[in-house]
Amino acid sequence: MIKERSQAIAPVRITEIVAAPLFGDSPPGGWSNEITPSDSIHTLIAVHTDAGITGYGSVFTDGRLTESAVAQLAPLLLGENALEPERVSEKLHQNSFWFGRGGTLTHAISGIDIALWDILGKATGLPVCMLVGGRHREKVQPYCSVLMEEPGEMAAVIARYREQGFRAFKIGWGPFGRRDDPRRDEAIVAAALTELPEGGKLFVDAGASDAYWPNGLKWALRTADMLAEHGVGWFEEPLVPDALEDFVTLRKASRLPIAGGEVMTRRQSFLPYLVRGAFDIVQPDVTKVGGLSEQRRIMHMAQDFGVRYVGHGWNTALGLAADLQLATAQPNVDLVEYIGGSAYVDGLLADPFQLDADGMLAIPDTPGLGVTLDPEKVARYSPQAGRLFSQTK
Ligand SMILES: [Mg+2]
Repeated sequence: MIKERSQAIAPVRITEIVAAPLFGDSPPGGWSNEITPSDSIHTLIAVHTDAGITGYGSVFTDGRLTESAVAQLAPLLLGENALEPERVSEKLHQNSFWFGRGGTLTHAISGIDIALWDILGKATGLPVCMLVGGRHREKVQPYCSVLMEEPGEMAAVIARYREQGFRAFKIGWGPFGRRDDPRRDEAIVAAALTELPEGGKLFVDAGASDAYWPNGLKWALRTADMLAEHGVGWFEEPLVPDALEDFVTLRKASRLPIAGGEVMTRRQSFLPYLVRGAFDIVQPDVTKVGGLSEQRRIMHMAQDFGVRYVGHGWNTALGLAADLQLATAQPNVDLVEYIGGSAYVDGLLADPFQLDADGMLAIPDTPGLGVTLDPEKVARYSPQAGRLFSQTK
């Protein structure tokens, strides 16, 4: 006799999805068409449920695009069981094939997916890490990510964040590689190195996904040599993101690790880069790539290909919280990216992230993402903040 299927946990039905664009203090990105503080490039997501549990996520794209994407996806989500993040997110991917797969819709799915994992964790009383791989470590090193400046200012910026307790740094974008003057580029790197703490780390990000990147493989090979001479830890986005074969050539020739992948979305896009051996370090962005469901599959693929994984969800406190959960869910993750001086990371949580005396970040072990938004703080950057915290339907 077949035993009747029992359901230990009753379904938790999605009742409302809210998108709240953040603006007013958007930090510069080093883009050639620079972001202004009033531009909205990040959006918080809330998924409300009939169980009174709300999950939160984050999307890296213009708030207006996210709002439209959420309106498009809502009919597929309302009434769904929030306790099945992978199935529900895959349903969204499968049904958005014709409407911008890999673009804004995938970015928006990222925030929804993160919120669903937050709900699953809260409903089961487990931190997300326990649901996606386990808990390999209690803390991880955040590297402070800052924009390239001219040499004098560059040294001052590193010194400022070193004083805040960071021991690893990444400098990128801005003037680097933009002036056809390798000596200026080297001077910026050398200036940053003068302010590293004892045993500190420095990484360099060319930011070649910026508009009209002027350099190609020969520049990347020469620059990789220069960075290796200075003991830099990795060279990130040294080529335009689509230059797969040049990445393969560069990685083989370079003495220092080659990193990339932050702009790519969907796990399927990463496969040829891993199969061909384009990266030493892969850096998917959990707030773009499709959320935790997609990110963890890329993380595991990277492990199987012998490629390091470092998350790129640094842009809001919720993106970083998602990165922290994944950073403990695999045996060999040793870093997370932490943007220096962003209100959207440091100024949204009831209990802000804090470095310990060794410059490490504790990985939350409370249910879900393990962080709590402060409604009053969020309201400074989003007029829709109230809807994140109370249902209207
Ligand atoms: Mg980067």
